[in-house]
Amino acid sequence: MICKLCNQAFLIDEHFSSLFTFKNICPQCDNIYKPVINFEVVPIYQGEIRYYYLYNDLKLSFYQSRYLSRNLGLIYKFLIKEKLLNYSIVFIDLELLETIEDWGIHIIGFGRIVFFSLERYDLSWIKIFQ
Ligand SMILES: [Zn+2]
Repeated sequence: MICKLCNQAFLIDEHFSSLFTFKNICPQCDNIYKPVINFEVVPIYQGEIRYYYLYNDLKLSFYQSRYLSRNLGLIYKFLIKEKLLNYSIVFIDLELLETIEDWGIHIIGFGRIVFFSLERYDLSWIKIFQ
């Protein structure tokens, strides 16, 4: 098999229980890209932004991001479990962050905001949150 994340060939143990499941990523990538819900709080005027992301300290390529985005369901389930659906929830990516100075000022007033993303972005440079 060819790993969807690192494009290296890898072998799989074939036995009856794995007959109808196809492993798309190699054991090394399975370990490296294991999704973990990370959490940060960004204090803002009269509130906070809870920031959840799955991958910290990894620079994901476009194809890796596209493949791993299937793991975002973990955050959706977490938000439901933690009863955070009454927060204003915003999915952020690099493209949206480029314009955050334009749209971010409009959501600060909500006070209770959740940002989530696949990989961690540094939000400390954003002036509207300071
Ligand atoms: Zn791999």
